Amino acid sequence: HFITFEGPEGSGKTTVIEGVKEYLSKNYKVMTTREPGGIRISELIRDVLLAKGNEMDGRTEALLFAASRRQHLVEKVIPALERGEVVLCDRFVDSSLAYQGYGRNIGVDGIWSINEFAIQDVMPDLTIYLKLDPEDGLERILSNKRDSNRLDNENITFHKNVVLGYNELSDNFPNRIKTVDASQSKEKVLEDTLAIIDNYLIE
Ligand code: C5P
Ligand code: MG
Repeated sequence: HFITFEGPEGSGKTTVIEGVKEYLSKNYKVMTTREPGGIRISELIRDVLLAKGNEMDGRTEALLFAASRRQHLVEKVIPALERGEVVLCDRFVDSSLAYQGYGRNIGVDGIWSINEFAIQDVMPDLTIYLKLDPEDGLERILSNKRDSNRLDNENITFHKNVVLGYNELSDNFPNRIKTVDASQSKEKVLEDTLAIIDNYLIE
């Protein structure tokens, strides 16, 4: 089973993934990962993407994310799926559709075509979308003083477009993408997520 977690920054993906891992580990071998997931080539690409001072063209950015994604998929995700593990991945193709497709206004068609090339037929079985208002997400990022990088300096319009993108994607692919209200308490967000995952696993 390939399960991905999506949502704006500050939506709590990392915390939820930890909780899901703990829960599923009772019955499954579980691998958690995130793009670029410690894959050397993907980490090198990420450094280029995040380097401050790089004025990067949006399509170059989209191609680099897709390249990084492919290497992570081939080196780490596919082997784990072949071993029969449950893979929990922090961000995947929907991030590119939302951030580059909607946030950077490149459009989903172009972003989808390069990602289709990159991932071939490997799509998530289930995607948990942690939905949060763009204002709340931005507030959570600002209060969480982590190292800033090039991609952290976007304005509210960009974040609004990203969230709009996620909302449209979840409307267009309701069977795969399940929405959780991420403005709730950590406990409730995890509880809602586990209910969706349980339901998916028994089907
Ligand atoms: O949330 P995470 O740490 O995975 O993302 C790192 C940075 O990359 C964040 O600033 C996020 O907004 C950005 N990002 C992006 N386009 C993507 C994926 C992530 O701009 N496709
Ligand atoms: Mg995170």
